[in-house]
Amino acid sequence: MIPVEGVEDQTIAVLGLGRSGRATAAALAAGGAHVIAWDDGNDTREAAAADGLTIVDLTRDEAWHGVTALIASPGIPHLYPRPHPVIAHAYALGVPVDNDIGLFFRSYATPDWDGFDRAPRVIAVTGSNGKSTTTALIHHILQECGRPTQMGGNIGTGVLSLEPAVDGEVVVLELSSYQTDLARALTPDVAVFTNLSPDHLDRHGGPGGYFAAKRRLFAEGGPDRAVIGVDEPEGLFLAGQMQMGPTDDRVIRISSGQKLDGAAWSVFARKGFLAEYRKGRQAGSVDLRQIAGLPGAHNHQNACAAYAACRAVGLAPRQIEAAFHSFAGLPHRSQLVAQIGGVRYVNDSKATNVDAAAKALQAFDGIRWIAGGLGKDGGIGALLPHLDRVAKAYLIGHSARDFALEIGQTPHEIVETMDRAVALAASEAQPGETVLLAPAAASFDQYPNFEKRGEHFTALVHALKTE
Ligand code: ADP
Repeated sequence: MIPVEGVEDQTIAVLGLGRSGRATAAALAAGGAHVIAWDDGNDTREAAAADGLTIVDLTRDEAWHGVTALIASPGIPHLYPRPHPVIAHAYALGVPVDNDIGLFFRSYATPDWDGFDRAPRVIAVTGSNGKSTTTALIHHILQECGRPTQMGGNIGTGVLSLEPAVDGEVVVLELSSYQTDLARALTPDVAVFTNLSPDHLDRHGGPGGYFAAKRRLFAEGGPDRAVIGVDEPEGLFLAGQMQMGPTDDRVIRISSGQKLDGAAWSVFARKGFLAEYRKGRQAGSVDLRQIAGLPGAHNHQNACAAYAACRAVGLAPRQIEAAFHSFAGLPHRSQLVAQIGGVRYVNDSKATNVDAAAKALQAFDGIRWIAGGLGKDGGIGALLPHLDRVAKAYLIGHSARDFALEIGQTPHEIVETMDRAVALAASEAQPGETVLLAPAAASFDQYPNFEKRGEHFTALVHALKTE
């Protein structure tokens, strides 16, 4: 745990008592704060009280006497569509509102660092898609290279549950737009922006607010290096803003598809090859086509981002390349589950929206596509340009009939359930083809979450092997 600095003897209120809220309360208490806590859910409050937390109703005026800060959980709206009433109360009283990320950045560095040979560094990753994959890949590369490293934030461990730093360590954080929007301190050494596509717009008051939340990681913290995906106008704008001039290599531009050899420092992937250019010279290259854990142009973008971040903390191209080969991929993201009789089975259950499903479809050929679930507004029209790669679609869940209407000419069958989809796809697939779960829909009609859906698919595929 990382005890929070600068809170000794202060009364700090914590709103939201899920996993991260509870960890925050513990880290504040370890820093000497007097913590009062609240959650809208009665059961959650009772469980927290049973664990010894002091529950105080923060919707009441008298609760705020002497409170110096409010720390909110990321799931709780702080501005759009409207601030949670407790947060609105803090705003009205002038009580600063922060989150665990802000507390982490002000508490991570300690006087112990004076005795270290190499100062610890923080790499923070944000963007619309590929954050988890990029974060896990950076962490994996650092591990393989023998650097002390920890990973946390929106992936795995909450930031305040990480261990205090050791000599030469690199902490890799995945940060969502909710987290970067509210944090009062954001000071990574290396900041990474993968890409931007519309998401969570209700929480940010539209696309401008969503981009602004991500941009804070760069504008507020002044990172030593900024790794920026420039395949959308927002990334180009951000890169331009961060650079002092065309030869300033504080920014490493990345792209999946574009050649960027004119930039001061760039890493890009084209036709399956990654290239690094610095000051007009090629500094490294990697054949990404051989890397099983990173299939498709979207993963090549993640590979470029991770490569650039690792270069920014001093790793050599050959070390990074070697580590790419041992990256297994994250579960439920273009994950190769098995290869049976020349047919690949790939689990991309995390493709809950059309954007992610489009990327997955572009990563393979001869696809037996398992899709459907709880469809999202807007339909799947945006997938039509990629359906020439689909040999047949096996449609499941609530949206099966709607999807069937939209995909029209592409061979398809409504099979309703995952069991039938896997069985039929397996019996019809030809050697060289890929059975791909990329639902383009949420899972909640048939599963508690996308992980359970992906696990079900994986179990069914493994059962095929033993038949
Ligand atoms: P995030 O943490 O940003 O949600 P993930 O790495 O968990 O990102 O991937 C989420 C979904 O997006 C998966 O379906 C994955 O295959 C797809 N994806 C991964 N990387 C990218 C990328 N660079 N661009 C677009 N889609 C991506």
